[in-house]
Amino acid sequence: MTTALKARWPPPLWRPVVVYAVVAALWIMLSDVLAAVGVRSVSHFILVEILKGWLFVAATSVLLYALIRRDTSALRRSEALHRASLESMADALFLVDAQGRIVEANQATLKLMGLRADGLPTDICQLLSMLYVRRPDGSPLACSEAPSRRALRGETVREEELLLQRPNGEQLHISVTASPVITGAGRSPDLAVVVVRDVTELKRLERMRDEFLSTAAHELRTPITTIKGYAQLLDRWMPGGHEPREGKAFQILNRQSDRLTQLVQELLEVSRLQLGRLALRRHRFELGTLVKDVFERMRGVSSEHHFVFHQDGAVFVDADPDRIEQVLVNLFDNAIKYSPGGGDIEVSVGVQDAMAVVSVRDHGMGIPRERQGQLFERFYRAHEGLASDRGGMGVGLHLSEQIVQKHGGRIWFESEEGRGSTFSFGLALAQVEQEARP
Ligand code: ADP
Repeated sequence: MTTALKARWPPPLWRPVVVYAVVAALWIMLSDVLAAVGVRSVSHFILVEILKGWLFVAATSVLLYALIRRDTSALRRSEALHRASLESMADALFLVDAQGRIVEANQATLKLMGLRADGLPTDICQLLSMLYVRRPDGSPLACSEAPSRRALRGETVREEELLLQRPNGEQLHISVTASPVITGAGRSPDLAVVVVRDVTELKRLERMRDEFLSTAAHELRTPITTIKGYAQLLDRWMPGGHEPREGKAFQILNRQSDRLTQLVQELLEVSRLQLGRLALRRHRFELGTLVKDVFERMRGVSSEHHFVFHQDGAVFVDADPDRIEQVLVNLFDNAIKYSPGGGDIEVSVGVQDAMAVVSVRDHGMGIPRERQGQLFERFYRAHEGLASDRGGMGVGLHLSEQIVQKHGGRIWFESEEGRGSTFSFGLALAQVEQEARP
């Protein structure tokens, strides 16, 4: 409820109470004096006193009745307003109490779930199993992990994607937000407010976009390879050699087709990932050796930077080396690209909190604080529109995050505008390595 509404609703109670107190005080003080003056006989005086008492009780009862009526109708009006607001919501909204019972649900809830009013179970766990609610990858969702249950433990769950199946067999993609309702400081939540949105259509469009990206990237690969092939051929086989200017043109043609190949490759990977077609071929290997390989390759790319490598002992992981190499190349690429003034690029490999951690640190332009929140989102470019914009598609970090997460690891960064960034990722240590450590 807005502050303005709160001020007007319900109307103040103090006014009739003050009027009542003043009138009652005057009545008590003056009525006896008047009765004593006007009534002579004792029997009449008693009668007047009885009448006076009745009048007082009657007036008090009428006032109480009026106040109660006024407050109940205010309550009823507020409840009707609250109901109408719930019902006018396009999203499904329901409330779950601390015992896991659904205590309130709007019409949109029934519509989204394809249920009749008498078909909605009171128990949230029953509802989850009835609608076969599961995670986007199809794995089951334990009732204790349901957004409403987590909200009842005090967590705010934001836009969690899940799948559900209506009783008629229709599959829906839903986005669930659940918040705890705490009525007093230090208390555990009494209720969870759950808002569910149907995002099936959105998902269908996203899938169409990814299919399109995947097809476009596939189709572009062949002509680009052909262009590059012929550019190389012409560069080498030009009868009688070529002018220096032509040589430069062929070099540019070569470089740009390499860049195009890389962009197309990134697009292809992103769409593959979205379509769930990115498979991992994992095996045990020493992470430092791979990092050092990529490090040696990348240090040849830029002469303006000073590359520093540091490793604390061998670190074994169980991962897909090609995919991890992709992550490394992307982090190195970015470190070079976003420190155009040169400087140190420091790479370290080691073990932190029982995880194999690789960090790539640059001393470049860093990332403005207000643009750091969405950094791993697909197509997000933190420097877009700024003078420091270096171009790019904004997919490298998203891809890196997805690859690392697919390995069960995590990726993070620290950055300060104008001072540089450190990107790190951590993977679980390979089993044998874990056992070998104390
Ligand atoms: P791209 O570099 O192609 O734009 P990425 O997904 O690799 O895409 O990076 C996303 C954004 O994150 C970049 O556009 C850039 O704004 C920011 N970024 C990434 N790495 C760094 C870095 N080392 N220093 C500063 N900004 C970075």
